[in-house]
Amino acid sequence: MRNKMISLIVILLFLGACLAGARKIKTDESKADASFFAMSTYISLTAYGKTGSQAIAAAQARVEKLEKLWSTTDEESEVFALNHSNGVLLRVSSETGELLHFALAMAQETEGAFDPTIYPVLLSWGFTTGENRIPTKDELERLLQKVGYDRVMIEGNDVTLPDGMQLDFGAVGKGYTGDILVKLLKEEGVKSALLDLGGNIQVIGTRPDGRNWRVGLRNPFGDGYLGVLEVHDLAVVTSGNYERYFVGEDGNTYGHIIDPADGYPAKNGLASVTVLAKDGKYCDVLSTALFVMGREKAVDYWRQHRDFDMILITQEGEICLTEGIKDQFSLSGGDWEVSFMEYDE
Ligand code: AMP
Ligand code: MG
Repeated sequence: MRNKMISLIVILLFLGACLAGARKIKTDESKADASFFAMSTYISLTAYGKTGSQAIAAAQARVEKLEKLWSTTDEESEVFALNHSNGVLLRVSSETGELLHFALAMAQETEGAFDPTIYPVLLSWGFTTGENRIPTKDELERLLQKVGYDRVMIEGNDVTLPDGMQLDFGAVGKGYTGDILVKLLKEEGVKSALLDLGGNIQVIGTRPDGRNWRVGLRNPFGDGYLGVLEVHDLAVVTSGNYERYFVGEDGNTYGHIIDPADGYPAKNGLASVTVLAKDGKYCDVLSTALFVMGREKAVDYWRQHRDFDMILITQEGEICLTEGIKDQFSLSGGDWEVSFMEYDE
């Protein structure tokens, strides 16, 4: 009997360790965190407070569920089903429907600089498989005939994607996921949290000690960070072709952010774009779109909209900040030229 009891305790301890291991959640009195790979990136979630642990577990489960909807490669996903629908109408989940409505509206707003139907072109560059190649101009022109956000039909959650067209939420899905997680964590009673979805940072409240979160601004030309942003209750999202690129046989560098105007990786003088606003999906779309637009058009767009802040880092190494975040940014050192963008020229 005693031996049986000991075996049972050993089994229970083992099962407990397995469960904790599977979710990789560490907790101390008030802090809970989880790090895992999903949506093609490393995700790290940290929440403070009594409910942090259960909130983080629910958040991780939510990310995994959303990934199953939007993966372009998972044959069970809704995006995969749409991309292989041969022009037949499909009813999608409310999450996918909402994200697609938003993505199409933003594609129009950015005049196609952001286009969620760019996938056929992205495939031809091999960014999804890692087997990179340089497509010919003819091939790109042919593939661009399958690109065009204005040809996607959506009514409620009923979507018709014309035959041959393919969707990719790579430039907006993480931001939208971040928004869903922020809502979920708040509903769970979390008042202080830091969510890092592969460089998409979203924070709830301040740090537990009441001070601002300190978010590092990546150096697009090398390792590490070149500065720090002090923020609370905000999303901070960065796009840059330094994140994913390859060097072609011709010696040129080709990045993963494509200019839908010609199908080539965007090369408009910017090394990275960081966007700050409350809404993660808005920041996510904009960082990609403004990167495609280049400095001049990005500044025009910001002056017209005025509902976000941004940091442009040019290929020459100049750091340009919008006036609203002047006092929130500090350089970590280094010889950088910093300038500020004003609302009125
Ligand atoms: P991000 O890191 O948010 O800038 O998103 C880049 C990812 O979005 C790429 O890896 C592609 O999957 C996809 N993408 C590339 N170019 C575009 C574009 N112009 N519009 C929409 N999505 C894009
Ligand atoms: Mg983006």
